Amino acid sequence: MECPFCNVIVSRVIEENDSALAIMDGFPVNPGHALIIPKLHVSNWFDLNEEQQRDILKLLKVVKSRLDKEFKPDGYNVGFNHGECAGQTVKHFHLHVIPRYKGDVDDPTGGVRFVIPERGNYRNPGHIPRKEE
Ligand code: ZN
Repeated sequence: MECPFCNVIVSRVIEENDSALAIMDGFPVNPGHALIIPKLHVSNWFDLNEEQQRDILKLLKVVKSRLDKEFKPDGYNVGFNHGECAGQTVKHFHLHVIPRYKGDVDDPTGGVRFVIPERGNYRNPGHIPRKEE
């Protein structure tokens, strides 16, 4: 299977710098959900070199101010899934930038501990992860 992030269509790119680019997520958890990815195929954060990590964090600032203007969210969850057991399905690093809006869930306590459970699993909408008995 081809890597979707090695073959990003140019028109999907909303921001870029030397080694990273940003696109809108194809399965947005919330309006404005963006992804920041290295231009070269590297599977995870810890295998990126310092320059690539720096470019990703620089782009995070740029994308955040762009989303602030376009979507006017009240907050953000930012993070990545590392490894299959953590839910990583595409083995090309991607940083999720998820705008949050007052009232998008009834109780946002916990943040990335839950993100938005009923929308987190795009393969099985409505499925809320539970600890197996
Ligand atoms: Zn790739």
